[in-house]
Amino acid sequence: MSHLLDLTAVQARAALEKGDFTSVELTKAYLDAAEQTKDLNNYVAMSEDKALAMAAKSDENYAAGKASALEGLPIGVKDLFATQGVTTTACSAILKNFVPPYESTVTSHLWSDGAVMLGKLNCDEFAMGSANETSVFGPAVNPYSPVGGADLAAGGSSGGSASSVAARSSIMATGTDTGGSIRQPAAFCGVVGMKPTYGRCSRWGIVAFASSLDQAGPFTRDVDDSALMFQSMAGHDPKDSTSATQELPDISGAMAAGVKGMKIGIPSEYQMDGMDETIIKLWQDGQAWLKDAGAELVEISLPHTKYALPVYYIIAPAEASSNLARYDGVRYGNRIEEGGSLDDMYEMTRAAGFGDEVQRRILIGTYALSAGYYDAYYLKAQKVRRLIRNDFDEAFQSVDAILTPATPTAAFPLGVKQADPITMYLNDVFTVPANLAGIPGMSVPAGVNKEGLPLGLQILSGAFAEDKMYAVAKEIERSAGFAATPSRKAGGAS
Ligand code: GLN
Repeated sequence: MSHLLDLTAVQARAALEKGDFTSVELTKAYLDAAEQTKDLNNYVAMSEDKALAMAAKSDENYAAGKASALEGLPIGVKDLFATQGVTTTACSAILKNFVPPYESTVTSHLWSDGAVMLGKLNCDEFAMGSANETSVFGPAVNPYSPVGGADLAAGGSSGGSASSVAARSSIMATGTDTGGSIRQPAAFCGVVGMKPTYGRCSRWGIVAFASSLDQAGPFTRDVDDSALMFQSMAGHDPKDSTSATQELPDISGAMAAGVKGMKIGIPSEYQMDGMDETIIKLWQDGQAWLKDAGAELVEISLPHTKYALPVYYIIAPAEASSNLARYDGVRYGNRIEEGGSLDDMYEMTRAAGFGDEVQRRILIGTYALSAGYYDAYYLKAQKVRRLIRNDFDEAFQSVDAILTPATPTAAFPLGVKQADPITMYLNDVFTVPANLAGIPGMSVPAGVNKEGLPLGLQILSGAFAEDKMYAVAKEIERSAGFAATPSRKAGGAS
């Protein structure tokens, strides 16, 4: 069945339409694949009965000639999206066994477009991390990990999503990106990951981390699938006050038109110490590919880039400390009560329910927001955030899109960075600026390093101009001809 699992979503959708196989067959193949690749630890809950019922319904829809855009395609859902009747834990002990009575807007869109839900995917606890190591379920493993060698990080926080799409245990998957959590794991696992413009995808029903930065987006095996899934996930939602009303641009039209005549910005500030040489070379290759395809390269400056990481690590924890106040043992999830006062109950519940990284963020955020430090940290960070956004606004006056590396390194072995939070935070250096500015960003697999590990190039565009980003992504994909497959995928290596 391995060929079935190697089909992209667009190919599988066409084959389902033709009747080459049924959605029930495809779904069973994916459920088997999840079972076969259990050691990658990318699923934290399977929804087998739901999957088979949804697939059967899709088969009926095909038979009746009423198939929707994603009809019968089996997808995985990051365990941060509320799924009605299926556990939603944010991979935290405090929400273990929480079963939401409602469905997130984004996943509702996917189901109404016919997608089939396989299960919930592993991620860092409350999406805080870059290696999926803060999950209460343990880390997802990168399917490119050498057979018999050390397990590599799938990236984070959406490590399970990236690992699963690469390992063929889901055809596509949802993710969320607050500071890079879609793009970095996508780069590590050799798949396409896209963070839309802030406001494109409703945040309603997604466990909140940092509300002014959080965005949902798709993980897919190629750029066409990404566009397909994004168009289903996006849309205005009155239940999210920051949801955008802007219409989606013509993405397929832009991809067909190509990059000829487009201006591509190359920011000098993204050349950093400690970057893999192969990544620098890949970035240069990417520039050459776009030039050959008729784009014009423009050197640009984003002078406040160096402040993005420190600004992010004040604003994100500040918002998190406020968002996570709701987990008090009263309204949601687990409660630890051993006598004593109400305050004792809060304290014990939160001490037992939150892991170290989450507690660290709550402490940093509470500190940054406290009287006496608010102006020096939080307010200052907000002001610098505006400068970072201004840099992009100015750049997009003269360029259509920006090309950068997605990450400073390829996937690293699990365990090596967890002890030192700063080293871990450095992973996000190329991805956080887009979240701070609210603009879309995408990682496309474009090459491998000496060890054969995937590397991604990042494409950024102006707010609500995803069409331009996709046009560049499509060209990068075409020119790169990335053909690596993971050593540990379902159906065996091909
Ligand atoms: N790695 C970043 C962090 O730990 C980003 C996480 C995310 O985008 N959810 O905060």
